[in-house]
Amino acid sequence: MTTVLQIERRFRRIAAQAKEQVRALQEACPHPEVAHWRGYHSSGTPTNPRRICLQCKLEERGSWWSNEIGWRCEEGDTKLGGAPFLRPLDDAEDFYALRLPQDIDP
Ligand SMILES: [Zn+2]
Repeated sequence: MTTVLQIERRFRRIAAQAKEQVRALQEACPHPEVAHWRGYHSSGTPTNPRRICLQCKLEERGSWWSNEIGWRCEEGDTKLGGAPFLRPLDDAEDFYALRLPQDIDP
């Protein structure tokens, strides 16, 4: 009889394999189409702008001073900053809907 622990172990092994495959796809992707969300700022805490490749789902978070023209990736060198086409997103929910499921996001 299969136990819950066995199912959990199998799921973790499959998720680890999926993460590795996604990572390899992201390394090889030319990032042909990228979506951009401007972030959010009010009197409270700002939320930095973000970008995501629509083909491989690689994400980058920009600094607060980033915009569509002068993208500054917070994690260092940008992989998505020079993308040929940016699809602007109106709100955070549109951006979050494009993300990978957390279990396979490398
Ligand atoms: Zn890509």
